[in-house]
Amino acid sequence: MPTFFPRELQNLVERGRDRQLRLAVTGLSRAGKTAFLTSLVNQLRHAGLEARLDLLPAAREGRLLGAQRVDQPDLSVPRFPFDQAMAALDAKPPTWPNPTRGISELRLSIRYRPKRSSLLGSETRRLSLDLFDYPGEWLLDLPLLEHDYLSWCLIQQQTLGSERRGLMQDWLAAVEDISPEDEADEARLATIAEAYAQGLRAAREAGFSDLQPGRFLLPGDLEGAPVLQFFPLPGLDGMDPKQLAALPKRSVYQTLARRFAHYQRHIVKPFYREHFRRFDRQIVLVDVLGALNAGPERFADLSRALSALMKSFDYGKRSLLSRLFAPRIDRLAIAATKADHVTPEQHANLTTLLEALLAEPLKDLRFANVPVKALSLASIRATEARELTRQGQTQPVLKGTTLEGEDTLIFPGEVPPRLPDDAFWARQGFDFTAFRPLPRASGALPHIRMDAALDWLIGDKLR
Ligand code: GDP
Repeated sequence: MPTFFPRELQNLVERGRDRQLRLAVTGLSRAGKTAFLTSLVNQLRHAGLEARLDLLPAAREGRLLGAQRVDQPDLSVPRFPFDQAMAALDAKPPTWPNPTRGISELRLSIRYRPKRSSLLGSETRRLSLDLFDYPGEWLLDLPLLEHDYLSWCLIQQQTLGSERRGLMQDWLAAVEDISPEDEADEARLATIAEAYAQGLRAAREAGFSDLQPGRFLLPGDLEGAPVLQFFPLPGLDGMDPKQLAALPKRSVYQTLARRFAHYQRHIVKPFYREHFRRFDRQIVLVDVLGALNAGPERFADLSRALSALMKSFDYGKRSLLSRLFAPRIDRLAIAATKADHVTPEQHANLTTLLEALLAEPLKDLRFANVPVKALSLASIRATEARELTRQGQTQPVLKGTTLEGEDTLIFPGEVPPRLPDDAFWARQGFDFTAFRPLPRASGALPHIRMDAALDWLIGDKLR
């Protein structure tokens, strides 16, 4: 029998181990998922060359040798459109990549030298990194699993504030003269469901986030499918649940209740079972600055939506999720994106504001012992930080080019370190300008703290 030195033995064991990691990126639409994943792939492909990844030890120590795209294992999931995204960023003038609208995947094979090199010296290893991108809106449907149709209708009615009522006007008008006991008319239900979906999309456009069902906003390949033809019936609060349950099978109420149950069973649960359950790690991106820009009602709405979304990461023994299946995510990051919209001394505030926004879900995660890190980052930095001295006073400013092509030098404002109160909203509005991406000077995209995010998400696998 051969004799091994302990170090060699350990190396053998590690080499034999399946070095594979499934990392998922999510966030509500426009949170910056497409930009993040594009930058992540770009940075890893340029690691060891001109990518600036000092906060990732494997890169700092010169052990990260690069990454290649390889064929993904699951052919039924669309491929993340990395080349198209880079082509948009390299256009003249540069433009932002088109966002993805459903789930997509990309597999990278990362080559690195382990920290404690073996007796042979120049050993290299590979880590197979499966990257997934999916809409955070889909996670808003987890709480929906806790309801039956009746309780869902009652909850939905409560979320309709005055501004949202305005946006849902067409649907409210259409649903007004339909009664639970009416006989279901397919075409009519389809029309009302479409008005409901349109209302949700209008609310989304206006900056609202706490919107259900999630697939109505981003149907992916379910566009127009009958499974999406339901909606909550208003005015059920005064009704006797027993009488509703006894209505005939063909009634509006029973038809909608059946579709709701079908949606739960055939759309929401399979996503968790076939995808979500298999992710090892996850980053949740949040456009905190965008919500600050949109004002108090939208900011409060984002907070509600995030609490709902974060329920998918609550693995406490009694949580809904762990009753459905045994989750496996062992590490989570939450990131405030587009940090290049504010001057660098505001970044710490941006992180504490994100933590304040997620205070309740973070408590649950700590209790459930899921390691989580909060940070602020810019996947693709579009501005440069400068200082401006005027009348002896030095002020930090940002230099960038607006989407319309105008060069500007601005101080975009202060980020509150905690949840803004009424006095704060009254005192100060926000006006963060949207910038055009910078022309790419070298192969690697400019960023802020992508390396810190990478370190938290994959750094331990590159030791
Ligand atoms: P998705 O819908 O979550 O995939 O969001 P995207 O990645 O498409 O981002 C939405 C928009 O946010 C982009 O079109 C950009 O205008 C902006 N954006 C995203 N990331 C950054 C960033 O790092 N810096 C800046 N300045 N803007 C960003």
